[in-house]
Amino acid sequence: MAAVTEDEVLDALSSVIEPENDEDIITLQMVSGLVIKDGNVGFTLEVDPSKGEAMEPLRQAAETAVNKIPGVLSVTAVLTAHNSPQQSKPPQAGPGGGPKSAAGSGVGGAPKQKEVLAPGIKHILAVASGKGGVGKSTVAVNMALAFAANGQTVALLDADIYGPSQPRLMGLAGEKPNSPDGNTLEPMQRHGIKLMSIGFLVEEDTPMIWRGPMVMSALQQFLGDVHWGECDIMIVDMPPGTGDAQLTMSQQVPLAGAVIVSTPQDIALIDARKGLNMFRKVEVPVLGIIENMSYFLCPSCGHQADIFGHGGARDEAGQLDLPFLGEIPLHIDIRETSDGGDPIVVSQPDSKHAECFRSIATQLWNTLEGDKAGKRAAPNIVIQ
Ligand code: ADP
Repeated sequence: MAAVTEDEVLDALSSVIEPENDEDIITLQMVSGLVIKDGNVGFTLEVDPSKGEAMEPLRQAAETAVNKIPGVLSVTAVLTAHNSPQQSKPPQAGPGGGPKSAAGSGVGGAPKQKEVLAPGIKHILAVASGKGGVGKSTVAVNMALAFAANGQTVALLDADIYGPSQPRLMGLAGEKPNSPDGNTLEPMQRHGIKLMSIGFLVEEDTPMIWRGPMVMSALQQFLGDVHWGECDIMIVDMPPGTGDAQLTMSQQVPLAGAVIVSTPQDIALIDARKGLNMFRKVEVPVLGIIENMSYFLCPSCGHQADIFGHGGARDEAGQLDLPFLGEIPLHIDIRETSDGGDPIVVSQPDSKHAECFRSIATQLWNTLEGDKAGKRAAPNIVIQ
């Protein structure tokens, strides 16, 4: 049987009418976060928070419509009660005149009310990678701690739905955030920074197909319903890869910029380039590339071995006219300290590795702060 396509799902959903507006849910831009995997379909329906429960029949109607498509094995529609589509702004024209929100995903997608989410956070920075296992989470946590070491107030948001590892890296595995009123959440605190992770809320054995839709609503809630307070910077540990889930997330969070973590060999496989293109689609400037596991530093003799052909990311950054932010060696201390819940920036602040992370944080901070006139306007780094 032919694979279920996005167009088929959107087509089916365009037959579902929202009774109050008497228009279909695609026209009303209520659908987002569409994921299709082996005949399993998931998406979110964005509804007015005050009408959450009343929208249950609509959610069921959407599931039923998609279920009728030949080849569909399961459908999961999740209501997101954060932005009402009626309140959402109409699509804005991007610089090229095209709709800013189209972003290639074809999924509903008016720009969300980015301005009102987490107003106390000055800059939101995504840490992304073309694929998993390159050390994105390790780099994200150490960067967050490096910003704090440099004197900034920092929040870390773990949005890696496929492997939320920040609770473990921050020594908070198994803990749960407090909700004083049942609606809002207090961020966790450790090593002087605030943390919220999808890993605190989603059980580890939650089936994958649920995760895409869940994270869409969870991300908005993380920004809207967590008491972040005032923070200079929030680091978002993104899910690896460049698919629809990542794209939609990049659209939903008011990102000031993104950094891409890559190993030397992934640069060769141009995974990082895909990450770059994704952010380009959603008009988020890529502030630079970090090469992780750049070279092997022998813990006993200090010998440096370029196992993966060290320097690929620096060359690539040069070719793409992007800042190269730094190279982190493959070193047992980096892994062990993270696994122990005390990442190297806090547990070995005098090490060369910690210094490298602080230098990356300094460069990024200078870029972000130097860019006060417009969040996305730094002329030498915006890729159009
Ligand atoms: P990702 O988030 O990209 O999936 P992780 O940050 O979870 O990757 O890292 C994958 C594994 O590699 C972890 O065990 C981590 O401790 C280890 N690791 C990451 N960066 C380094 C490094 N520079 N040196 C040694 N081990 C590393």
